[in-house]
Amino acid sequence: MFQIIKDPSQSMLDSLWAEVTKTAICHDCGVKPGQPHKDGCDTARCLNTGMQRLQCDCGKCGEDVWTGIWPGIKECYEKRLVCFDTATNRVCFDLNRQCVEFQLECQRKQRNEKASAA
Ligand SMILES: [Zn+2]
Ligand SMILES: [Zn+2]
Repeated sequence: MFQIIKDPSQSMLDSLWAEVTKTAICHDCGVKPGQPHKDGCDTARCLNTGMQRLQCDCGKCGEDVWTGIWPGIKECYEKRLVCFDTATNRVCFDLNRQCVEFQLECQRKQRNEKASAA
């Protein structure tokens, strides 16, 4: 269960942000924030074209550094979307709400995925 935390304090937001950006490892190649992605990582972007590095062959892709920031986390921070996870007893960024309230595109996509899964 996720309980919405209304009006979280700035210090709560800041400590959450610090925790997320410090501890998140890349889900594909496993590097820590501040380290460059390994070869073949599907999260790494080409610094030259902005494409997924796996699919880019421009030869100047460079070393994309993992920032530890997942898509949506920054928006949650800026819009102060925080929830409390009763399963883990932890406060976390409310990515679901961020998705629902601010990314209609994302909602549509989820519906399509559900439809195609059914
Ligand atoms: Zn990676
Ligand atoms: Zn490239």
